[in-house]
Amino acid sequence: MHCPFCNTDDTKVIDSRLVADGGQVRRRRECVECGERFTTYELAELVMPRVIKSDGSRQPFDEEKLRAGLQRALEKRPVSIDEVEISLSQIKHFLQVTGEREISSRVIGEEVMKKLHKLDKVAYIRFASVYRSFQDLSEFQDELNRLKKSKSEN
Ligand SMILES: [Zn+2]
Repeated sequence: MHCPFCNTDDTKVIDSRLVADGGQVRRRRECVECGERFTTYELAELVMPRVIKSDGSRQPFDEEKLRAGLQRALEKRPVSIDEVEISLSQIKHFLQVTGEREISSRVIGEEVMKKLHKLDKVAYIRFASVYRSFQDLSEFQDELNRLKKSKSEN
């Protein structure tokens, strides 16, 4: 996206929201070069951002891999295929409206966890145990304790 003030093509997205029926994205952008801000209305893109792995390498977004990850976490859990597919398209939608060309795999992992948290707590814990980094382990433990507590209260 070119800056309308200085014409550089290096601008960053500072806010994205869907407009009307979701077919358009309103983006607030800031020029990296001159610092001017402007708003664009763009057709919702079908292009997925590339994924930045934790080692810094870039990979194309892999929907099958994401689906497999969700299914693994939800194995033998009472969640329908439909619910998995809806979550999957919501995650993809979220990634598309960010307007970023590249997105960290961690951001995707966090988004998956948000969905699983709503769908099924056991699946959430399974997924979180794989994805959360070592420094977040205490947070993970807190979540486990919280779940145990709410279970014993039932
Ligand atoms: Zn500019």
